[in-house]
Parts: sequence; C-alpha cells; structure tokens
Amino acid sequence: METVENQYLLLTPGPLSTSRTVREAMLKDWCTWDDDYNKGIVEVIRQQLVALATAQDSYTCVLMQGSGTASVEATIGSVIPADGKLLVINNGAYGERIGQIAQYLNIAHHIVELGEVAQPDLQALETILAEDPAITHIAMVHCETTTGMLNPVAPVCELVKAHGKVMILDAMSSFGGIPLEIGELGIDFLISSANKCIQGVPGFGFVLAKQAELEQCQGRARSLTLDLYDQWQCMEKNHGKWRFTSPTHTVRAFHQALQELLVEGGVEARYARYHSNQQILVDGMERLGFRCLLDKSLHSPIITSFYSPAHPDYDFKTFYHLLKEKGFVIYPGKVSNADCFRIGNIGEVYNQDIHRLIDAIGSSMYWQHGAQGGTAAEMQEQQA
Ligand SMILES: *Cc1c(COP(=O)(O)O)cnc(C)c1O
Repeated sequence: METVENQYLLLTPGPLSTSRTVREAMLKDWCTWDDDYNKGIVEVIRQQLVALATAQDSYTCVLMQGSGTASVEATIGSVIPADGKLLVINNGAYGERIGQIAQYLNIAHHIVELGEVAQPDLQALETILAEDPAITHIAMVHCETTTGMLNPVAPVCELVKAHGKVMILDAMSSFGGIPLEIGELGIDFLISSANKCIQGVPGFGFVLAKQAELEQCQGRARSLTLDLYDQWQCMEKNHGKWRFTSPTHTVRAFHQALQELLVEGGVEARYARYHSNQQILVDGMERLGFRCLLDKSLHSPIITSFYSPAHPDYDFKTFYHLLKEKGFVIYPGKVSNADCFRIGNIGEVYNQDIHRLIDAIGSSMYWQHGAQGGTAAEMQEQQA
C-alpha cells in the first residue's frame, strides 16, 4: 500500500492539515439509514457543536452540505423575511461575499464598506441602526480570513442586541479555535464549516442557531437545497437524518476531529496552541525582516498577512515552490491594495512546525544576497 503520510504541511486556513486518525475515519463506507449513523454520529455532532458554542440550552445546530459558503447562503437566504433588511459589515472578501449573496437573492441590504484594514466604527453603526428602522438583521465576519483581522464581536453584538436586531456571525475560520460564548453574546446564527478550526475535511458546514429564531424561518428560504429551516426540521424529526445525500465520509472524519478537539483540552487549549503558533510565526518573520500587514492589536491566531518583500527579484511563485519542496504550503495574499502573502497556523500544526517553517523561510529568501540559492532567474530555472 502506498504511504498515506502527507508530503507537506498545509499552512492554509482550510482545507488544512488534519491528523492521520481523522483521515483514517474515512477509510470505510457506512450506511446512512440506521441509528449507527444518524443517532450515533450526526446527533452526537450536533449536540457537541452546541456544547462547544454555549452552556445555554436555547440553541440548536443544523448541518448543511457544501462548502462553508453554502451554509452562509443557506442562513442569509433562510432567515431574513421578505420584508426584512440586512446590514452587512464588510472589511474583507468574506464580508463582501455576504453582500453578494444578499444581492443575488434580492434581499434588501445596506453594506458598510470599511476597506480591508479597518475595524467597524461602533458610533457609525449606531447611527445607521438608529436612522434605518427597516434593518432587521446584521451580518459580520468574526475572523476576516482575507487579512487575519479579528473583528470586535462583543461590542458589535451588544449594539445589535440593544437595538433588538438579529445577529448573524460568519465564524467560519474561528469557531473551535477562539473561545466564544454565543449565548452570552446573544448571537442568533453562527456559521462555520468542517474544514477549519475543528480540523475536519471539507464537505459540509454547520449553523448554530437560537432555536426561537430558527423556528420563525419556515417558508422563508429562497432555495430548496439551502433551506435551513427544512434541513433542521428533517434532522429534528428523524434523529439526525439529512434531507439529501449526506457527505458520510466527511461526517465520520468530523466526528473523529471533534473527539480529538476534546482530547486536546477543548477550545481553550486549541486557542492556546494557535495563539502560540502565531506569536512564534510573527516573531520569526520579523527577525527575518518581514513586516505584518495589520497592526498587531488586530491580529487573530488564525492567519497572518505579511507584506511581500520589495526586492525586484522576489516572486511569490518561486518562494512558494521553494517552501513546498521543504514541506510547507503557504497562501497567496487576498488584499486588493497591497502585495502580501499569508500564512495560516490552524490545523494539525504545532509550535515546532512553526520553528521549522521559520528555518525553511530563512533558507528560501533567494532574493537576498548571501542567502542560499541564487538569483530569482536561477531559482526559476531549477523549478522548471
Ligand atoms: C473559509 C471561509 C468561508 C467559506 O469558504 P468556503 O470556501 O465556501 O468553504 C467563509 N467565511 C470565512 C471567514 C472563511 O474563512
């Protein structure tokens, strides 16, 4: 049998590096009809996700096929009534995407455009909410994976709750990796997916919902397959049954990944590991002369953006391939007005991996005199 070990570490925020045991959970085929799967796996996952999110018992969980965006679209499309209006806080590609979803679905919306390196201004939000009573729902991204920025979820939720509106949080890249008590914060809908901080493989997303809010969503969906209410009803009435084919292997892997999160010590322990990964990364990169895009006060432990070196010989692809050969896959930048690259530190990634990464980066800075290697042209030749 061929080796199943990974050839490189994915330093990308989903899909990310998973444990061997998570991948092994996918090696068998399982039926979806009986209690072993529905009650034994799906229902357990739903309960465990609620338990990770809050100690309050007023929440429920819906799993939804597709990549994370499908769960965002299912939520936006299923919870906002025909006469509702969505306020979107946009400071990156994922906030932008929520606005696009509203546009596609013909949902009345107002987008607060902040650019990509600024946080929402609470005073300005307060004014918008006060002046536009048509707004019923507010959507924000928790960790904006575009830059790695962590948005101020507590004060925004407080404001939204003070105005009696419904809060939707895209916590795709942070849920399970950053402690959050959604009941205390008053979050009504939180969206995340299998292949981020829970460290499963791609294939489905999930929505943690305040049950009283979800109960009001019957008949609101603008799509059959993405009807969040209907999917929830099916899971509730049939003990974990999905309406349409469920991604069984992915779900098995996710069930294993959740057990491993608990063994690690839960969200707090995982946060501590990601946080120290990020600190080691930033310290090491700064020692090598790289600069962070964001002010450190805005950083999340999930992913960090670095300015590309200004040297004319620097080329991302060449740098990327050198690192990949050494066992690390990094991420291109996603910011529109600055030349950057990104390094994630979530997944089955430990402090010693980041130390090894820093060494690998140090010996891959071919554009610098004295560094191992040669000119960019020579390097590209070697790659070819
Ligand atoms: C990953 C991610 C998504 C969803 O992306 P998919 O590619 O659809 O899985 C949405 N929002 C944020 C903040 C993300 O990091």
